[in-house]
This record gives sequence, C-alpha cells and structure tokens, in this order.
Amino acid sequence: MQALKGRNNTVKYAVIADIHANLPALQAVRKDIAAQRCDVVVCLGDLVGYNSEPKECVDIIRQMNIPCVKGNHDEYCSSPTSPSGFNPQASEGLRWTRQQLTEDDLQWLANLPLVVMVDGFTIVHASLNQPHRWEYVFDKLAAARSLQAQKSAVFFYGHTHVPVAFVRDSSVRGGTYTKFKVESGRQYFINPGSVGQPRDGCTKASYVVYDTSDRTVELRRVDFDKPDSSGGDRVGTGPKPKPSLSGSAGAVPDYGPQD
Ligand code: ZN
Repeated sequence: MQALKGRNNTVKYAVIADIHANLPALQAVRKDIAAQRCDVVVCLGDLVGYNSEPKECVDIIRQMNIPCVKGNHDEYCSSPTSPSGFNPQASEGLRWTRQQLTEDDLQWLANLPLVVMVDGFTIVHASLNQPHRWEYVFDKLAAARSLQAQKSAVFFYGHTHVPVAFVRDSSVRGGTYTKFKVESGRQYFINPGSVGQPRDGCTKASYVVYDTSDRTVELRRVDFDKPDSSGGDRVGTGPKPKPSLSGSAGAVPDYGPQD
C-alpha cells in the first residue's frame, strides 16, 4: 500500500466515498483535493450505480491506483448473478452498468478488499463488525458494534451517504461535523458523505481531508454540474441505469437484498 509521506513525515489524506458513476461530481472533488494539496486519496467504495458514467469513474479510480475498498454496488455489479430482491428497474440498471464495463473492470471490482488498513487508520464501506453484510451505520448503537473489538483509533466508512462522525471513549456519541481534532485515547468512526449522491439535504458532493500533521478531520463540500435526473441519460450513451437521487433529502438506503 503506498503511503506517500508529505512534509515532516505526515500525510494529508483525502477520503472519498460513494462516487456512484457521477463523473462531474468526481471531477469537481478531484479539483478541490488538488487545491487542498492532499498527498494521498483513499476511496470507501461504491464507484458504480445510480448515475450514467460508471466506466469513466472506474477508469479514474483505477488509474489513481489508490487504497480502495469494495462497496455493495461494486459487488452487485461484479457478481455473475443478480442479488435477490432487486426491483426490475434496479436489475436493469445493474445490467446496463455491467455492459459499460470491461471484463477486466468487473474483475477489478470483484477483487476489491472489504477492509483496508492505511497507514494508521482503517477504511471500510459499511460496518467493521460485518463488512460483507452492508449494514447501515446511522446511529451510535451501530457505531458501537463496529468499534467493538477494534484497537485502532481512526476509521472511515461510507454507505449511508450522510456525513456524520462517532467518537468513543467511555461511551459512544455522534453527530454532524465540519472540522474536529482527533484526540488520543478515543476512537473515531467517520463518514465523509458521498461524492456522487449526497443524501443529507445538501446537494453538494462531500469528502474529508484528514491531515495527520495536526490530526484534524475536515468535511469539504463541493458544488458540481448535476446529472440530468429527469429520466434521460446525461451524455446520451445509453439507457439510464436508475434515476439519480442526487440532492434528495433524507437518508435513503441503497437498494439491495435487505432493502
Ligand atoms: Zn452508496
């Protein structure tokens, strides 16, 4: 795993999640990451699904050659069979997404790990206790289950598309955040929100800058050109995989077998 050391052996990380085939959002976030002078980008999965540019987004993340974990959409897309419980529209979206990707892309998605330890912190798409079950960590009970039996201090997760952070010392607390400092003796479970499909009522993409020099975690919000969510494909290259929920308020779970 590469960990390019920045100034004074510290690293400024950009943590991105849930890109969901939204190329304009990914491009806007990458521009902001460059402006923030981050040394390393890490990705919490769900590169595909919902929006119309899965190939472009997978190509970018593959070329970046960064630490990246598998999301549930990456798994559904790269598995040979459709998961049960998908409605016809979701199944069609899945089929369409598969058609946009090469066999090599699908194999790459299938081979993504569920959990990666990156230079002192850990990344996962959903939960740490059962990463393969795609559990949604919305509350402190779920966060506590994830942090149980974990020894490291800082963890990043995605999947809910809602930027929240949980801290554990004698108890577990959580809530929204803009910037905070990682204190020693505590554990943190941090969600950077979603690049491609924000679901917290803010229509901007979000990601986190984790600066290990001063141990700060900062949420960044970035505006991007919105994909057309009226039913047509934004770039006219094929059927729309699934109407974009970009900008929808509230926490809408990903579609999936248990949803
Ligand atoms: Zn997602």
